[in-house]
Amino acid sequence: MSGRAAASGLLRWYGRAKRDLPWRRSRDPYRIWIAEVMLQQTRVAAAIPYYERFLERFPDAEALARATEAEVLTCWSGLGYYSRARNLRRAAKAVVEAGGFPRDYESIRRLPGIGDYTAAAIASMAFGLPRAAVDGNVVRVLARWTEERGDVGSAKTRRRIEEAAASLLDRKRPGEFNQALMELGATVCLPRDPRCGECPLARSCQARRKGLERELPVKRRRAGPERIAKTLLLIRKGKRILLGRSGMAGFWELPEASRLPEAVVGATVATLRHTITCHQYRLSVARAEIRRAPRGYKWVAAGKLESIPLATATRKALARIP
Ligand code: SF4
Repeated sequence: MSGRAAASGLLRWYGRAKRDLPWRRSRDPYRIWIAEVMLQQTRVAAAIPYYERFLERFPDAEALARATEAEVLTCWSGLGYYSRARNLRRAAKAVVEAGGFPRDYESIRRLPGIGDYTAAAIASMAFGLPRAAVDGNVVRVLARWTEERGDVGSAKTRRRIEEAAASLLDRKRPGEFNQALMELGATVCLPRDPRCGECPLARSCQARRKGLERELPVKRRRAGPERIAKTLLLIRKGKRILLGRSGMAGFWELPEASRLPEAVVGATVATLRHTITCHQYRLSVARAEIRRAPRGYKWVAAGKLESIPLATATRKALARIP
């Protein structure tokens, strides 16, 4: 089967099997951009309510550019990787200053926080430009389809996969094609258990032909996350809770016991795990008392917690507290 036949089989399959996702109902570059940035580190099902809320609050680049950083972070709160939200706002300002969303790949790529993948996704889906968008799902599908045996974490292998994506790309329907390949990776060519029996690429897939679909792609092992234990303090004064500034600019969090030696620590009321990139935290939340709020800390009414940017670990911890 030629690359062209494989691509048209893939597009036919996509026409039948694609999931109806909110960002697929539009070719507006702003909407596609917000979805792509959200989906970089968030699963589809978890991203949908955030996406809908975000667009209701900031329906276009103008609205996002006008917002304060705290407003954007509050709307993003819970999604993690907050530099994404800061960059969205900076890029929205650049879009407004330029008089509209750029319409060529290089100008899109120059916007803050937009890398090769996101620029290619926007260029192809919103403007029909022939750019292959290679995300983790596409890497897996193409490593299997081409029987790529190199470590997909290496730049060399990555380049070969990008070349395969570019040569397979349907240049008349690049947006549909990119989405089809991603959808195949997300729903059929699954990491552990590929469903080759349902796959439109099965007849030409080299890994499938050689029974290697579970062996590929090759990923060199990297060190696991570092484990860290911490105690967060739940200090109440009437209906208010003491919060301190988080290490992440603009965010607030429950105070850490090690930073408030003057607090009198009581019983543990919750424990939870929280992972940030290469750190795995085991968090205990303990009740505590303190005479007055130290500098850099503030009392926040429990009813106001929804309207300020909270660090994700604190948000999770507060949800666990009876
Ligand atoms: S045939 Fe199997 S391994 Fe090959 S692309 Fe399809 S699902 Fe993936």
